[in-house]
Amino acid sequence: MINIQKSERSMKSNFNYDDFVFGVQPTDHILLSNYKDGTWQSPSIMPYADIKMSPMSLCLHYGQTVFEGMKAFRQDNGQVIIFRPDKHFRRFNVSLERMCMPAVGQDLFIEGMKELVRLEEHWLPEEQEISLYIRPFMIATEPRLGVKVSDEYLFCIVCTPMGLYYSEPVRLKVETEFVRAAEGGVGYAKCGGNYGAAFYPAQQAKIQGYDQVIWTDAKTHEYIEEAGTMNIAIVIDNRLITPKLSTSILDGVTRSSIMQIAKDMGMIVEERKVQLQELIDEFQSDKKIEIFGVGTAAVISPVKCINILGTEYHPYTANDATMFKLKKQLDNIRKGRISDKYNWNWFI
Ligand SMILES: *Cc1c(COP(=O)(O)O)cnc(C)c1O
Repeated sequence: MINIQKSERSMKSNFNYDDFVFGVQPTDHILLSNYKDGTWQSPSIMPYADIKMSPMSLCLHYGQTVFEGMKAFRQDNGQVIIFRPDKHFRRFNVSLERMCMPAVGQDLFIEGMKELVRLEEHWLPEEQEISLYIRPFMIATEPRLGVKVSDEYLFCIVCTPMGLYYSEPVRLKVETEFVRAAEGGVGYAKCGGNYGAAFYPAQQAKIQGYDQVIWTDAKTHEYIEEAGTMNIAIVIDNRLITPKLSTSILDGVTRSSIMQIAKDMGMIVEERKVQLQELIDEFQSDKKIEIFGVGTAAVISPVKCINILGTEYHPYTANDATMFKLKKQLDNIRKGRISDKYNWNWFI
């Protein structure tokens, strides 16, 4: 049973849909649930407000935090869907387990989210290309400076409007010095520390003129892993190639959706190790190669330049590239324009 307290007026009236920066404006409500004495207390949906916590909360010192990110869309017929919340729910619990945090049930994560999105769906205009970005997260709240697994947690869901995220083709550098995640580490978990640890190498790459890095495996630096907020996919001829999942790669929902769509379009999908040398050889053979990031935020982020071991290569990014067809197909499913045969869309 969710205790709901509605906000008296919406912040939407002061929100400019034509000009905003992603991730700044919360919607009107927040879902909160506390874990104490070994159980989740019944959740509340409250007017959005700051949360109060002890400066000694364990999450602030030792980083026990996990999050998710997914989207709700308004379909052409006006109905609102959340895209694959079941898969995000499972991944959330996988991340929680790795961080010694208590699992959440579907009633809290999915039903709570649906209830929250029902209250916020008016933030999704009928005509504009706006989606609602949904951010569930959990933090360790036990006030205690001793290094230990927390006995208390807070689970929250907040939402923020997101515009049509047209992503300019990006310049990426293949990182062969710094490491994001090693096998056996926490790379496959969506835990906060992974991102803080990746800022420095990304900043160094920026100074060198690149938008982001592509990580390589921690042991040999010979194989491509992912981009840190996006998985990486490659199209050569009729093949979609993407690094095989491991404990150092996050199991992206967009990655898995794009792989299924590619199969359905008759492409050969290869999930395997991708060696840097293989990419260099393909570029040197003058083949048409597409490289792109796949993730919830941008869906597809075309790579127009990739620095591999000091040499810049230029993947194909023209309008007729396969990646745009894959993206279009995914958009069509979410918008209800073609059949959703895998039940990816969950009506609120
Ligand atoms: C969230 C994330 C992705 C993309 O996953 P999606 O489920 O497609 O949004 C890829 N890599 C990392 C490290 C991530 O945190």
